[in-house]
Amino acid sequence: MLSSVRRTHTCGELRPEHVGQRVVLQGWAQNARDMGGVVFLLLRDRHGLVQAVADERSPASAREVAAGVHLEYVVEIEGTVQLRHAPNDKLPTGLVEVVADTVTILSRTPPLPFSIEGHIHANEDLRLQYRYLDLRRADVQKNLVLRHKAAMIVRRFFDANDFVEVETPVLTKATPEGARDYLVPSRVHPGQWYALPQSPQIFKQILMVAGMDRYFQIVKCFRDEDLRADRQPEFTQIDVEVSFATREVIMELGTKLVQTMWKELIGVDVGDIPVMSYGEAIARYGIDAPDVRFGMDHVTVTDLLATTEFSVVRGLIDAGGIAKAFVVKGGGEGVSRKQLDAWTQFVKRYGMGGLMYGKVGAPWSGPLSKLAQGELDALAAATGAVVGDLVLLGAGPAENVNPGMGRLRNAVARELGLIPPGFKFTWVVDFPSFEKDPETGRWMAVHHPFTSPRPEHLNYLAEGRQGEMLANAYDIVCNGYEIGGGSIRIHDPEIQAQVFGAIGLSDEEAQQKFGFLLDALRHGAPPHGGIAFGFDRIAMLLAGTENIRDVIAFPKTTSAQDIMSGAPSPVDPKQLGELHVANTVKE
Ligand code: ASP
Repeated sequence: MLSSVRRTHTCGELRPEHVGQRVVLQGWAQNARDMGGVVFLLLRDRHGLVQAVADERSPASAREVAAGVHLEYVVEIEGTVQLRHAPNDKLPTGLVEVVADTVTILSRTPPLPFSIEGHIHANEDLRLQYRYLDLRRADVQKNLVLRHKAAMIVRRFFDANDFVEVETPVLTKATPEGARDYLVPSRVHPGQWYALPQSPQIFKQILMVAGMDRYFQIVKCFRDEDLRADRQPEFTQIDVEVSFATREVIMELGTKLVQTMWKELIGVDVGDIPVMSYGEAIARYGIDAPDVRFGMDHVTVTDLLATTEFSVVRGLIDAGGIAKAFVVKGGGEGVSRKQLDAWTQFVKRYGMGGLMYGKVGAPWSGPLSKLAQGELDALAAATGAVVGDLVLLGAGPAENVNPGMGRLRNAVARELGLIPPGFKFTWVVDFPSFEKDPETGRWMAVHHPFTSPRPEHLNYLAEGRQGEMLANAYDIVCNGYEIGGGSIRIHDPEIQAQVFGAIGLSDEEAQQKFGFLLDALRHGAPPHGGIAFGFDRIAMLLAGTENIRDVIAFPKTTSAQDIMSGAPSPVDPKQLGELHVANTVKE
């Protein structure tokens, strides 16, 4: 191991076999206790903790310096390893201590804004402002080490499978992945802008045209979109592209990658990963990234309630809506009115008018008891609800009911502690190629516009049936998180041009935005396909946390700020001038 000039051991290394050895340690004082003539210092570095003591066995000078050490001072201790009288079985080094001959203070600090040790009470903003202090904590360091090991496994895996890691540009042209671009003004070309890549999508396809055959890259991507706990404006992808690949080839590769990572990092056997169609995911779970660790599947009861006299439900169905229900086992007793009110508010966020519930019994209680007895019996039979259960029902437009009831299913299971530990993976396939933008009414690509339709749907384009077209695309989902997604690409320039047309791009626009791709496709493009995995999300799952910032050394807040460095921040007007950018923000 690489050692510093002076340091002989790290703080996690000493054991009884070192007793009697002279050592030099360097680290942070996690604890400093002056017991009147006897000073205990708990020294910490990334490798662990070890106790040093300055007592009657040490020279007076060492005791004096040790007495002046405060929390998180950086110190060097030279001394001899001895067995401890009172071992500490919580520390791997707990059987020994270092009796100091010399104590040197290498660096000082004022009192810290929060304590490094133990459970952190400081709020996250303070921790991010002093990220270097937060990063001293063992569990955060553990996450960064795990992330590093994950990256090593990824590189070994792809190398062993004959992939080449190729870097692609960061200053580039906009790549459409459905988010807003981060733009960088060009100084040399007034009024012209680079975009930071939302992904290396076009470049990796061009690498296939270039004959690289198998590409991967662990790469930063940038998307200016509203953030959530599992999203960051700059994030890392494991980006992959393969020539002459079918969907099955890429899915097998993806399965092997996650099997390898989960096994090697946390000893978990992922096993085979089931495949589900997008249609099934929406029908059973309301969303396309379902958490399949628990049941509570949705049951569509539109037909069953189509003639009900319960006017609210009837009205919504008559207006073209759907009705979906799911069951909370035993929830008839345990769920409070307050919870039901909160769940009602929850689904409203997805545009649902409200949530209807019924406690199964004789008679039923709750708003659903307004249904006829025959309808209630049929509802119970369809959903498998029995006496004592709670049935939750949502009705309205499918685009509201599916996500509303889908997210509610997750929220309820989590709130009631119904999610078993462990990992469940699913592949989701056969996404629609296009969906209508609710604002503009225009067709948009569900994945991205380079995704090939299922071969049997190719002629739908010419027939104007893009709404029915299925994409040759796949997502991989773990515990309700989309951890990867990709597709077989269009390699025929004519079809690519038709797809641009289908999403409303004129020939000129397509040429101006993606002309270089269309040109490349005209120069001998092999059939190809690929996938990108969200590396931060994977690291988050492997680390067992639900906050993506826990696995990123210098993350941004949910308002896209780096509190530590203060980015984003105003710049000198002169700099703006050089970039030909006018400052339009009113003071
Ligand atoms: N570029 C896509 C994404 O970032 C992944 C892919 O299709 O390979 O989601």
